[in-house]
Amino acid sequence: MTNTRPVADSELAARHRSYVRGRTAVALLGWVPLLVLYLFSHTRYLRPYVPESKGLAVVVLIVIPLAWLLGTAWTYRRLGPSMHGLLCTGCGARLVDDAFKSAAATGRCAACAAELVSPEPSPDGSP
Ligand SMILES: [Zn+2]
Repeated sequence: MTNTRPVADSELAARHRSYVRGRTAVALLGWVPLLVLYLFSHTRYLRPYVPESKGLAVVVLIVIPLAWLLGTAWTYRRLGPSMHGLLCTGCGARLVDDAFKSAAATGRCAACAAELVSPEPSPDGSP
């Protein structure tokens, strides 16, 4: 894990920007199948593949794409903060959105008050 000690203010902000960019990409990835299926189901290209049974059609056109959307969003919410080094060093809380704003403003975790932001970056790795 990269996030094992306090980091510079700018580094924390850069990590959060990177996390937000990733979230946008995941949102697009989540919505695209739903939109594509919606468009295709209203054209002749997908009509032959839509099941005759209404229940099965609902599953194929709505349940599966929605499960994909919610699944990708949930997965990124769970894994994104650790991928971008946005976990509290003290308690492991996810430092995104309000928790990030609080950490950026105070330099400490809102949940456990662990020091997260160091006043000076230490490029040689010493504290
Ligand atoms: Zn904490």
